Amino acid sequence: MSEGTTNQPAKANRDELNPFHSMAHQFGLAADLLELDEGTRDVLRQPDRELTVSMPVLKDDGSIEVFTGYRVQHNFSRGPCKGGIRFAPDVNLDEVRALAAWMTWKCSVVDIPFGGGKGGVICDPRNLSKGELERLTRRYTASIMDILGPDRDVPAPDMNTNEQTMAWIMDTYSMHVRRTTTAVVTGKPIAIGGSKGRREATGRGVMLVCREAMKKLGRNPEDTRVVVQGCGNVGGVGALLLHREGYKIVSVSDMYGALYNPEGLDMPAVMDYLRDNGKLEGFSGADYIENEGQLELPCELLIPAATENQITSKNADRIQAELVVEGANGPTTPRGQEILDSRGVMVVPDILANAGGVTVSYFEWVQDRMGYFWTEEIVNSRLEQVMVKSFQSVVKMAERHNVNLRTGAYLVAIDRVARVYRMRGVFA
Ligand code: NAD
Repeated sequence: MSEGTTNQPAKANRDELNPFHSMAHQFGLAADLLELDEGTRDVLRQPDRELTVSMPVLKDDGSIEVFTGYRVQHNFSRGPCKGGIRFAPDVNLDEVRALAAWMTWKCSVVDIPFGGGKGGVICDPRNLSKGELERLTRRYTASIMDILGPDRDVPAPDMNTNEQTMAWIMDTYSMHVRRTTTAVVTGKPIAIGGSKGRREATGRGVMLVCREAMKKLGRNPEDTRVVVQGCGNVGGVGALLLHREGYKIVSVSDMYGALYNPEGLDMPAVMDYLRDNGKLEGFSGADYIENEGQLELPCELLIPAATENQITSKNADRIQAELVVEGANGPTTPRGQEILDSRGVMVVPDILANAGGVTVSYFEWVQDRMGYFWTEEIVNSRLEQVMVKSFQSVVKMAERHNVNLRTGAYLVAIDRVARVYRMRGVFA
């Protein structure tokens, strides 16, 4: 059977799909343009610290299971490490390393005073009870305790972790240091130091960069069909906010399948349906189609907001959008980007497009340390200022070097980290 006629997504080769290789490739392109010296390159290429922990956890049936967890701190030149914790059966050190480095560049591109970190625990949360998940989270926190703290490393939710996970981490940390320390994590429930607007912040940031990119392309929301992959915290919220701005959302998907209506979806109704049913299948105002090929549907704006490695050498030539805004981390491989570049597609890269979440996490950390909390209007307006300014600085850098926006974003980010590194000097 030839490619494209099978029901399985065509897979690019393993090297193309390794997120650490993708990150290293992007870093190398920007480092060359910045003419970074070899020493600084070596420092910024490697994570500062990697911790692997084994965690025995008591299961509900009385047995003991040993889990493996990681915390990688890529760089803390500009401030404490910041980055989510992911619970997944296939999480691995290379993935966590790449995600930690992306966090360094993301915090730098929006100019917030954090470095990059990321954590992962190999587990399948669907097979764990709430009690088992709580014991695993608390043991993981205790195991990485020595490198955590509001001035050291501040985790947040990522895939399969949420506000409740952050509450357990905050509590475990606080019990060890003998005082309530809300600023040790972000993405907490509002009642224990979370920030208003945090839950929607990544989707709101995506909406804001879409608006800026559309201005650059001279497009109106009303004439713009949008396809969104993923309907969670990033994709669902992003699609809803874009719908409110007048865009025509023609397709959204979840891990089971996609909705498609070329006339546009009623996004508030889709989100209500998803909340009540847990999946998109069965929604009456659209056709229900397979995920395979969703990214290739006719549209002007494509937002991959689900997972890594979705636009690759195998499908980039069939993408019809003229603008791709990366809600997910690492959805486009370097080869996928080259193909989109050659076809004149504008790509707003992940480290800029989805940085709204970490920006409001920074606001949460600031509010926790002040013990004074802002209104949602203040949070949203400060987020807008950061996103618009960051978009403009990336565009300016890209135009100055005649490169795409991804390389422009890496140039802004790496230059800031490298300058700070040189100012601080090499500790001996
Ligand atoms: P989420 O779990 O809330 O939602 C993920 C969505 O993607 C779900 O609707 C899921 O069903 C769907 N999905 C998963 N695999 C899919 C597939 N193969 N095809 C179609 N849909 C699929 O997760 P999220 O928080 O929205 O995160 C999505 C991405 O955005 C991840 O790459 C994450 O690292 C990144 N991100 C999230 C945040 C944040 O604040 N939540 C911030 C920055 C980046």
